[in-house]
Amino acid sequence: MKIIANWKMNLPTPNLGSWTESFYQNVSLQDNKSIGIAPPFTHISDCIKHFKDIRIGAQNISSETEGNRTGEISAHIAKDSGASFVILGHSEVRENFNENALLINRKIKLAIKNYLSPVVCFGEPQDIYKSGDTEDFICSQLKECFKDIQADNIVIAYEPIWSIGTGTLPKINEISEIHSSIKDYCINHLKFKPESILYGGSVNDENCSNLINDKYIDGFLVGGASLKGNSFAKIVNNSI
Ligand code: PEP
Repeated sequence: MKIIANWKMNLPTPNLGSWTESFYQNVSLQDNKSIGIAPPFTHISDCIKHFKDIRIGAQNISSETEGNRTGEISAHIAKDSGASFVILGHSEVRENFNENALLINRKIKLAIKNYLSPVVCFGEPQDIYKSGDTEDFICSQLKECFKDIQADNIVIAYEPIWSIGTGTLPKINEISEIHSSIKDYCINHLKFKPESILYGGSVNDENCSNLINDKYIDGFLVGGASLKGNSFAKIVNNSI
């Protein structure tokens, strides 16, 4: 997957039907298989009906297989509802639910076991970015989260926490360097090659064109700018 919309706890306004209309009116791509949308859980099956050619995914899964976990969705249930991928390790989930590397590791294993492609997010807080320690920080997250995991369908999203929803991005060469380090680390230390390495953090239909020209940026995970069908379509048009 190259471009993924993360709708978070929002539905695109004013409704799914008009999002779909404005997306398809504006998108120029013939084959939308490399695009994903992660709606709230309750809208996964509705989205599958609306978007026959786009992959639909979940925004999280439980770290347990089944049982007494009120409010949670297992990998199996997410798959059963039609999801084909799952976003894991998003910084909002890490922060709001105290999600640590051990839990993310379990979730990635469960996703793979249940045929959900994992889209795993990594990113540094602003103080780490400012101190120049981003690469070490991300590599140690990769090491812990991917312990004993190798698969050929893993998508990695590099998402600096301080860039999410702020309109502020790292410089392109900084993103490029981190993506290149992520790729090297996965291949040389973890022994798997990520399917793609996406950038996430304040991507919009204007800045995506420059970003996508970098050889280490394969695509994007998009939050705010994915909530309007036409702006998401423009990101797709300018990036694939
Ligand atoms: C995100 O939260 O994954 C994200 C990339 O958000 P935004 O595009 O709004 O910065």
